[in-house]
Amino acid sequence: VMDPEAMFKQGFLADVYNERPVKPVITRFPPEPNGYLHIGHAKAIAVNFGFAKYHGGQCYLRFDDTNPEAEEGVYFDSIRDIISWLGFTPFKETYSSDNFGKLYELAEKLITLGKGYVCHCNDEEIKLQRGGAKGTSPRFRCSHADRTVEENLSEFRAMRDGKYKPREAFLRMKQDITDGNPQMWDLAAYRVKNEPHHRTGTEWKIYPTYDFTHCLCDSFENITHSLCTTEFIQSRVSYEWLNKTLGVYEPMQREYGRLSLSGTVLSKRKLRALVEKKIVRGWDDPRLYTLIAVRRRGVPPAAILEFINELGVTTNRTIIDIKRFEQSIRRYLERTVPRLMLVLDPIPVVIEDADELDGTELNIPFSPKDPAMGDHKVKFTKTVYIDRSDFREVDSKDYFRLAPGKTVGLQQVPYPIKATTFSKDDSGNITEVRAVLDKETKKPKAYIQWVGSEGSHTVEVRITNPLFKSEDPDAAEGGFLNDINPDSEVVYPNAMVESGFDEVRKRAPWPEAAGEDKLGKGGPESVRFQAQRVAYFAMDTDSTDDKIVLNRIVSLKEDAGK
Ligand code: ATP
Ligand code: MG
Ligand code: MG
Repeated sequence: VMDPEAMFKQGFLADVYNERPVKPVITRFPPEPNGYLHIGHAKAIAVNFGFAKYHGGQCYLRFDDTNPEAEEGVYFDSIRDIISWLGFTPFKETYSSDNFGKLYELAEKLITLGKGYVCHCNDEEIKLQRGGAKGTSPRFRCSHADRTVEENLSEFRAMRDGKYKPREAFLRMKQDITDGNPQMWDLAAYRVKNEPHHRTGTEWKIYPTYDFTHCLCDSFENITHSLCTTEFIQSRVSYEWLNKTLGVYEPMQREYGRLSLSGTVLSKRKLRALVEKKIVRGWDDPRLYTLIAVRRRGVPPAAILEFINELGVTTNRTIIDIKRFEQSIRRYLERTVPRLMLVLDPIPVVIEDADELDGTELNIPFSPKDPAMGDHKVKFTKTVYIDRSDFREVDSKDYFRLAPGKTVGLQQVPYPIKATTFSKDDSGNITEVRAVLDKETKKPKAYIQWVGSEGSHTVEVRITNPLFKSEDPDAAEGGFLNDINPDSEVVYPNAMVESGFDEVRKRAPWPEAAGEDKLGKGGPESVRFQAQRVAYFAMDTDSTDDKIVLNRIVSLKEDAGK
């Protein structure tokens, strides 16, 4: 097991700290509340909350809500919930919009310093000023840049007071157009917008841009290390320019590589299409990689953190195949969850001479490797259920499971069984197998899982497979919607799980030491186990008092099929 703090001890994040080795460290995680967080955001959460925690500091949760459109209450709640599920506690919850007043004051200050002007140019004109379509002609400023401070102040106040419609006027920073970095070419600071804002209602008719807001909000919160993704490398210059120009506290921005997954889609627009076309059940469908989906599927939060830690943090963008993600989750589950027996497609086996064993209690450990997980009792019964795929009507030499005349071991049962006969229904499906105990064979060639007829549960099992057929759904002919895997979910409505499930459920969350436990946040998805010879499963939120629904978290081995 890897050092869970490895990503902070060496490499990029250690270098970032050493550049500014201050205490206390203050960071922030600044999501835009316009959608559900996805697996990429888990990296940003791990980086920002983790870095602060590692250095004994604090991390703010800042809702970056400067865009009045597309912000809905449900996203705020979901973001909070996921952060706490991942085991982190924000120092404070803040909103960029809390600072609208302060930001406005600083915009006036910028104007007063001769570093801001109100401009009325359209997109075409601005493009020309920035060197034309190819960016090769000389850059220049429009005449608005020559306005006096007084004129700029009164124009900016006119913007504020609703004199201008959207696009008729905007405030620009007066930076340095001779600089090679486009982030210095007199960026927009404020725009006119008419939409009401989620929190400030109709109070404002102008809204600050990302470039104006982000560095200042970081400054207000005394952020020591402002960690963002590499798309913002060029923005570092404007970030530093604005804080310096205004003479406010200067946080240090550094950029790490985004995490992307191949074989799936993460963009909101695409996820929305999948949800609206009912290709998936919702934003939390276990086949998606939103964090609410990954959670519902049963992936433990600590496994996600371990995965991110394993990848490490560098300045490179990391594109990971979902198989590698699953491999990492599998390794985590292997050592942390209990084992049970489950059959997907049960057929009854009547063991004719097992009368004296009927009702015997077997003591079965939850884990062959970890005695601390304890054990549980399972009743062996004269009729047991095995998986349809573990029986064959016609035996062959290279086949080691049950067939007429053939012996197989039942896991944890002292004697193997040998099939004698079987019956079928009109359509040729096996309805029952008859067998006898085989006390001669000491070491059967194979053991199969079974479920007894007492105390077991009939459950619905959903085998979740990749939602897309290809590694790169976007590159598929006709787009990602043309790349849907028709077998992305295979349902076994009458699967059976052994009685030990009740205890696993009672003792959830598994793993017992996980963050969700400490926070008391274990939902049905924290009821996790390895179904021996089948897969890892967790309880789905569709489960009711009368019906248990299980999701496959991951297969036991890569490419296990089903
Ligand atoms: P998306 O468009 O995918 O929603 P975003 O950048 O608009 O991404 P924000 O809500 O602004 O999403 O993200 C909040 C924080 O999470 C930002 O600091 C952003 O850099 C970071 N982040 C977003 N996506 C990733 C990713 N794939 N990997 C790492 N960090 C990410
Ligand atoms: Mg963003
Ligand atoms: Mg976003």
